[in-house]
Amino acid sequence: MLKIAHSPLFCHPLPANHRFPMAKYQQIPERLISQGVICHDNLFHPILASEAEILSTHTAKYWHELKTLTLAAKDARKIGLPMSAELIKRERYIAHGTYECALYAKNYGISLSTSGGTHHAFAGHGEGFCILNDICIASNLLIHRKQAERILIIDLDVHQGNGNAAIMADNPKVFVFSMHGKKNYPFIKPPSDLDIELDDGTDDTTYLHQLSHTLPTIIDSFCPDMIFYQAGVDVLATDALGKLSLSMAGCERRDEIVLRTAHQHGIPVVVVMGGGYSPNLGDIITAHCQTFLLAKQIWQY
Ligand SMILES: [Zn+2]
Repeated sequence: MLKIAHSPLFCHPLPANHRFPMAKYQQIPERLISQGVICHDNLFHPILASEAEILSTHTAKYWHELKTLTLAAKDARKIGLPMSAELIKRERYIAHGTYECALYAKNYGISLSTSGGTHHAFAGHGEGFCILNDICIASNLLIHRKQAERILIIDLDVHQGNGNAAIMADNPKVFVFSMHGKKNYPFIKPPSDLDIELDDGTDDTTYLHQLSHTLPTIIDSFCPDMIFYQAGVDVLATDALGKLSLSMAGCERRDEIVLRTAHQHGIPVVVVMGGGYSPNLGDIITAHCQTFLLAKQIWQY
């Protein structure tokens, strides 16, 4: 059974010129259903992450400011989304959805989220459209509850996962691997366990060569029993913020390398969506949907 976390969507009016494509969260499940990739039975609605679960990763001060909507204006500006009680609630659903995906992945091999990948959220602040760090919350819960022992985060969003790197810096049970644009945001990049920095304009051949040669080595040496894959599609050449030059087929091949490697090693994998800022929303949706289709094909659901 393919289980897909679909967090409730709330109305968040964004300025017309805002770069954050909220519409994709509605349209991706619709496209997947209309094309027969999934049916309604594949979708599950996560529960809210509890305060204790959030505090496994975030500071009490930051969480208090979020829940009381008292974040300083400059801190809210860093996040880049209009703060509201509904937005915070949605982040709590997303975070717990990523954790629930991990439990499904242990049973079924793979589970995906129609959101998530908020890798720029630090323990004590948010930035870059990220408020709560879903992968880190899920990882900490899995380890504290003895549901996983060694977790590999594969972060292929074009932006380095600075929040993941900082939160997991001293955690030997979590290996953070990030491949990202060298000259792109964030401009201060706390070191991950392994960072591969890519020049502007990196194409399919260079990108896929790097990934296919690096990933098996990490898995063989770290021996993870859970993988989180942040499959941001802002690597596309069409992306407004990405600066790389991957084609749609290259992006699909990237996903295939990650998913087939996890499948061949028998390691449960959770896929979260991450970023995507192509001006044509259809490019973003196509790229994300091919990740779901690959999952279905490889695990033969
Ligand atoms: Zn990104």
